[in-house]
Amino acid sequence: MAATVLVVEDERKLRDFIRSYLERAGFTVLSTGSGAEAITMVTAAEPDLMVLDLGLPDVPGETVARELRAISAIPILILTAKAAEEDRIRGLELGADDYVTKPFSPRELVLRVQAILRRGGPAAAQQGVASYGGGAMVIDEPRRTVTMNGTPAQLTPTEWGILVTLATVPGRVYSRFELINKVRGYEFEGYERTIDSHVKNLRRKIEDDPGSPHIILTVLGGGYRLGLTRDE
Ligand code: CA
Repeated sequence: MAATVLVVEDERKLRDFIRSYLERAGFTVLSTGSGAEAITMVTAAEPDLMVLDLGLPDVPGETVARELRAISAIPILILTAKAAEEDRIRGLELGADDYVTKPFSPRELVLRVQAILRRGGPAAAQQGVASYGGGAMVIDEPRRTVTMNGTPAQLTPTEWGILVTLATVPGRVYSRFELINKVRGYEFEGYERTIDSHVKNLRRKIEDDPGSPHIILTVLGGGYRLGLTRDE
């Protein structure tokens, strides 16, 4: 079945333009120009990914992203006219999975959407199901699920990528640079610190006490490592 993409952009021409390119690439497209409606549509229609313009007239895109992160793990690709690095970083810190700066090539947008969905999809030729910390955490790569003490956690593609990478070699320290490149699959120089906000969101979902984590450990000056060992 074709993946469904929700396009949230108030400029009608641009919205239709994005829609036509995504449809041509085989996606089913829903669209709205309202941030408030976007939140409702995510809950009601459960699209697979959202393309979100930050400059919306009713609810700012930043607010939409923040509110959605509290209730949904939908992948978010931010569209921003704000070229300043700080603005882009802030978007990623809200828990978005990637961003595209206007003006953008529609081909680039489609490629980014496909890349995010691929990251979120079943991993090819992976280890299968692995258990950590005496069964406390189970990562099922083919099904792309993680369960904590039997309860599934809903992770965004970026959060999932970080966790699976750290779990590849438990205990090994992964630098922020290494994590972001593994997770995004391409060079992402200068954005290492956006990893920290994704780790924060991830900890909220899988740690008993996110304030004093025991699963994803911060290594000062180094990066992050998994605090659980893999079960035999
Ligand atoms: Ca706009």
